Amino acid sequence: MKPKLLLHTCCAPCLLSALFHLKDEYEITVFYFNPNIYPGKEYQKRKSYAEKYCSENSIRFVEGDFNPAEWLSFVSKAENFAKLPEGGERCSSCFEFRLRKAADYAKENGFSIFCTTLTSGANKKASQINAIGEKIAAEMKIRFLSKDFKKGGGYEFSRKECMRLGIYRQNYCGCMYSFKKN
Ligand code: SF4
Repeated sequence: MKPKLLLHTCCAPCLLSALFHLKDEYEITVFYFNPNIYPGKEYQKRKSYAEKYCSENSIRFVEGDFNPAEWLSFVSKAENFAKLPEGGERCSSCFEFRLRKAADYAKENGFSIFCTTLTSGANKKASQINAIGEKIAAEMKIRFLSKDFKKGGGYEFSRKECMRLGIYRQNYCGCMYSFKKN
């Protein structure tokens, strides 16, 4: 029997990169938890593509709460948070917020391992995301699977599958601060 893995996901393109690496080894439940995404219709759009892909491939899909105010209160602790560049302290808080909720859900629902698709993004530093995941895992006594899904063919697989299936690929990370740059 394959081990059960809770896979936090941010969008369908990143999910495809991660599934390329994990699907044969784990029994995966996808956890869509992204209150960072702005505006709400963008959140729904990214969710609908991820959910549809899961439904068509018999992968369990769970949606977390969408509470942007709670997310903002967590990430706004960093000084000048709105002006920080992508990959900076605001993003570390954003990753931590989402990964803590994923770890909570995993613990409450009998998963011994959790992971995130966030390292699939071309602009995302796997070392930054994995360090946060490992820290949370140590605190919560659960295992975090450290990966870099954009490597080893995952990114290319996702790009081709998105083209083949007509899956939406967004051109900004997600929050209102990354949105303004477009
Ligand atoms: S740029 Fe992306 S990772 Fe950084 S805070 Fe915004 S949504 Fe989160």
